[in-house]
Amino acid sequence: MKTLENGSIHLELDEVMPVVVDALKRAGCNDENAQAVATCIYEAERHGAHSHGLFRMPGYLASLKSGKVNGEASPKILTPKPSVLSVDGDGGYAPLAHRKLAKPLAGMAKTQGVAIAALTNTFHFAALWQETEMLAQEGVVGLACTSFKPALPPAGGSKPLYGTNPIAFSWPREGKEPLSFDQASAVMARGEVMIAAREGHALEPGVGIDENGNATTDPNEVLKGAMLPYGGYKGASIAMMVELLAGSLIGEHLSFEAAAQDNNDGGPPRGGEFILALDPAGGLASAEGLFAKMLEQNGTRLPGDGRRAKRSKVIADGIQIPVDLYEKITF
Ligand code: NDP
Repeated sequence: MKTLENGSIHLELDEVMPVVVDALKRAGCNDENAQAVATCIYEAERHGAHSHGLFRMPGYLASLKSGKVNGEASPKILTPKPSVLSVDGDGGYAPLAHRKLAKPLAGMAKTQGVAIAALTNTFHFAALWQETEMLAQEGVVGLACTSFKPALPPAGGSKPLYGTNPIAFSWPREGKEPLSFDQASAVMARGEVMIAAREGHALEPGVGIDENGNATTDPNEVLKGAMLPYGGYKGASIAMMVELLAGSLIGEHLSFEAAAQDNNDGGPPRGGEFILALDPAGGLASAEGLFAKMLEQNGTRLPGDGRRAKRSKVIADGIQIPVDLYEKITF
């Protein structure tokens, strides 16, 4: 760790895990939970996904300190139906549950062709590609979605109802890292709007509206008003579907219910996650043919490769965070 001339704190990537594990343990996590969350934050930073890395630590710590999240959670896995894993997160952060469910879920999908994990009683504050890539590393196709607190209006409306409701999808590849896309139903993740507000940057037009429903590029006004779904009513339907899959279908909160129960300590609300695993059967060779055709066109790349291309720069340059964030993490 060193302080830069601009006042920011510089960390080497290797310093992230010990700093985060130490902070999480002092805030109430046992080692197993601390390692799982810290790995998730480390992977986000390693891939340049800073809005889901150290930036989230004050929220993680606040929810442990307020007692909302169980830092000693021990997720319980049941199989109520042959193709359903029911995972009770025991009131803890989602990463430990992901590590426990990936292998059994992939095994069910390989045996039966299809399986779902219904993860309930958990707190999700991370980027979803990590859990779908765990499934792809086990040789199955993974799709995951989760809701949050209201940020997006329904089609035609102007008041937040749906979360930013991300969907991640990973496809396994022989001898290669999976193809993955992971995208919010909003034009961008809310964390990016928060970072723009923190750093005083205007947003691109079309990201959000103010409290009166008027278009604005001011991130502070968008945080008070609403973000917009990508693709207009089409993105709103995707966000609605996520509410139904990660809420109604698995018996967990919808975003507006999660917000009503949340203590607003700065961390995530209690919620659920829908995770689908599929046996790719004989489809891997066909997929490679598609990917090759995509890459024949100038200007294309595979989703997931943009994030991976950032790894060497992060390793070389390390990570810069504001001093007040560092002080919150090392309280
Ligand atoms: P982005 O818009 O940055 O990226 C969305 C996807 O598009 C990525 O998989 C990205 O791949 C891919 N992509 C971008 N450009 C191209 C391109 N030119 N060609 C091919 N693929 C491309 O993400 P969002 O802002 O929508 O979401 C950010 C993160 O926020 C996600 O990880 C999401 O899980 C997380 N999130 C979490 C929430 C929670 O409640 N836990 C809530 C909302 C969001 P690549 O990575 O390679 O660039």
